Amino acid sequence: ITSWAHIPQGPPDAILGVTEAFKKDSHPKKMNLGVGAYRDDAGKPYVLNAVQKAEKKIVEDKLNKEYLPITGLPSFTKEAATLAYGADSEPLQEGRIAITQSISGTGGLRIAGEFLSRFYPHNKKIYLPIPTWGNHNAVFKSSGLETEQYRYFKKSTNGLDFEGFLEDIQNAPRNSIFMIHACAHNPTGVDPTPAQWDELSKVIKGRGHFPLFDMAYQGFASGDTNHDAYAIRKFVADGHRIALTQSFAKNMGLYGERVGTFSIISESLKEKAAIESQIKLIIRPMYSNPPINGARIVSYVLSDPALYKEWLGEVKLMADRIITMRNKLKYHLVEDFGSKYSWDHITNQIGMFCYSGLNPEQVDRLIKEYHVYLTKDGRISIAGISSSNVKYLAEAIHEVTR
Ligand code: PMP
Repeated sequence: ITSWAHIPQGPPDAILGVTEAFKKDSHPKKMNLGVGAYRDDAGKPYVLNAVQKAEKKIVEDKLNKEYLPITGLPSFTKEAATLAYGADSEPLQEGRIAITQSISGTGGLRIAGEFLSRFYPHNKKIYLPIPTWGNHNAVFKSSGLETEQYRYFKKSTNGLDFEGFLEDIQNAPRNSIFMIHACAHNPTGVDPTPAQWDELSKVIKGRGHFPLFDMAYQGFASGDTNHDAYAIRKFVADGHRIALTQSFAKNMGLYGERVGTFSIISESLKEKAAIESQIKLIIRPMYSNPPINGARIVSYVLSDPALYKEWLGEVKLMADRIITMRNKLKYHLVEDFGSKYSWDHITNQIGMFCYSGLNPEQVDRLIKEYHVYLTKDGRISIAGISSSNVKYLAEAIHEVTR
């Protein structure tokens, strides 16, 4: 009999562990600010109306359940690419973008990692921001890339460390790979301004670096999908041949459907065909081909003008609720409880998360004394706050920081 006794117990996932602890707590005022999933103002998961209507149509159309091609549903990848790159994108119009459906954003990143690890012609080391989404490091290491870090967040201002970012771009060996959050940076909620993106594009190009954009929140940052695509469209317009991963988990609320993409801009149709052939060779032994339902939903929503319009409205609704909660949280802290700290970063930061600046001891007190659950780094998922508990949260934060 084979023994597995030599296997050590692995550590629990830092983010999912927060939810575990939250579930065990029976306090009536408990709050879960750990998980990065949208909740409505009643604290409930939200299935978008556009998605429900698309699902109804899919059922009515009585589609079959045959396998998708290895790179997924063509009508989905076509619409997804247009959403990200913009209909007037030159490489898109010229058919030079290699794209595949992926198992949501994570799967897209994993294909990106595998692809770069096999074919990147320079140093196979990828630069990640400090801090970044907890899974990035693991995904790229598992793909066989080395990881390195670049400065991104400045603790003293709770904002962007623009000078540090630029310096690290300059100091990295020429032709390095830089992984960049396209919008609504997780966990900090801090994005460069358009002028800063312009500068970053120039400096990254000057050093010959390769940008891989992770876009998990298109539309979620500003409420406008075009606005949130500024960085990638600017880089493409500047002539970068970027790679991109997309996720429809947040902006279409399709978390468990696992629908996303990986794409890369090539120089010619011939190059694109070769890249796609290699992407297929990466995917086939991993999971053969992707699931069909989520891709169908996205393709129905994006290709039907009425559903598309309704979806844009719902994206805006979600983004606006988050912005309202940011304003209320800051208002209660400053006006109601008279906190002596500046909480401007709560409203300056964007997207689903607020990097509060709370230290691990303060986070511990929030959990133990106030039943407010969040990750040790002080990241607050704003989507977990509602009109009925925002004041309670402000009071709790005030108490642990006074
Ligand atoms: N990238 C970032 C920055 C994220 O925050 C997330 C989700 N938390 C992902 C990628 C991937 O998410 P998913 O696999 O659910 O699309």
